Amino acid sequence: MLLSLHQNPHLEPTISRKPIHFSCSFKSPNKNKLQFIREEKLLSDFCTWGIGGPCKYFVQVFDQHQLVSAIRFCNEESMKYIVIGKGSNCLFDHLGFDGCVILNRIEFVERIEPGFYKVGSGYPFNRLGVQSVNEGFTGLEFGGGIPGTVGGAVYMNAGANGQESGDVVESVEIITTEGEYRVMDRSELSFGYRLSPFQGMKDLAAISCVTFRLKCSKSARRRQQEYLERRKLTQPVGEKSAGSVFRNPPGFSAAQLIERSGLKGCKVGGAMISNKHANFFINCGGATSQDMIELIGLVKGTVRDQFDVELKEEIIYVHP
Ligand SMILES: Cc1cc2nc3c(=O)[nH]c(=O)nc-3n(C[C@H](O)[C@H](O)[C@H](O)COP(=O)(O)OP(=O)(O)OC[C@H]3O[C@@H](n4cnc5c(N)ncnc54)[C@H](O)[C@@H]3O)c2cc1C
Repeated sequence: MLLSLHQNPHLEPTISRKPIHFSCSFKSPNKNKLQFIREEKLLSDFCTWGIGGPCKYFVQVFDQHQLVSAIRFCNEESMKYIVIGKGSNCLFDHLGFDGCVILNRIEFVERIEPGFYKVGSGYPFNRLGVQSVNEGFTGLEFGGGIPGTVGGAVYMNAGANGQESGDVVESVEIITTEGEYRVMDRSELSFGYRLSPFQGMKDLAAISCVTFRLKCSKSARRRQQEYLERRKLTQPVGEKSAGSVFRNPPGFSAAQLIERSGLKGCKVGGAMISNKHANFFINCGGATSQDMIELIGLVKGTVRDQFDVELKEEIIYVHP
């Protein structure tokens, strides 16, 4: 079973089918009205795999007020929704999504004091990783090669090279499903390997902003360069992927199990297991979500048969 996205458990949309584009202003201080776009946007344009059909509605939010407005609007219309960042950990179904996709573009950074960053959840995580290191801090150097947003990285507790996002989170501001703000302090948050408290939170609608506390370091920059070099050597950088498809099972490396199963280079339709890194599956041309799902099933079955190990997906499957 693929992990399924937390979704707002609301009923079918009741918005009239006309007009195709509509805007709603609510009481956001941002002058730009929210622009909801109906049945035009393809999810393949909003993820690193380049896979995914149309979503019923699509809206971009540029500040926290707009995010709240979009969530409240979806609630009022009984429309299910998802909040996405760069779609770098998502497999969108080729049939699309039968609700509203809220694209997070909340991209501010505030330096509260040295090493103390308050960051909009739509800010690029790799950019924050590079900036914080250049400013002399350690804790996010692993983020330099992770092409997601801050919100996605905290939601997934993204990590690499022995570091994880959750290690340096000081507090997180969320929007609840009721459209209310809530601040969660470090003491309320416990993270695990690719696990965050947000994944199981019933009343979470979105992470809106994250505060990180980093320590001074003279060696972080050198480490970041090493990590980036290693990525280039070991990962199919530049190919359409979603990073590692599976979590590492306790005591094993998922990539090694797949490689030892002889599956590197294996293809289903346009989906292929990378020859460079066996836990990276690539859209090598025209892959559908079904191709990926079949390839994932094939790998799970083979690894189960050969090693009696059950692989679990890291990627999130978003379906209609
Ligand atoms: C080339 C490549 C390398 C990668 N390397 C790594 C790596 O080293 N380590 C690692 O851990 N991951 C890695 N990844 C996976 C991915 O980049 C991370 O998981 C990233 O943090 C996901 O961020 P995103 O903004 O793209 O999230 P999305 O893919 O957009 O969303 C992922 C999930 O988070 C939820 N989400 C996103 N934003 C919010 C928000 N603001 N509020 C609430 N929920 C939200 C979505 O609803 C979804 O469930 C890699 C991916 C690629 C393509």
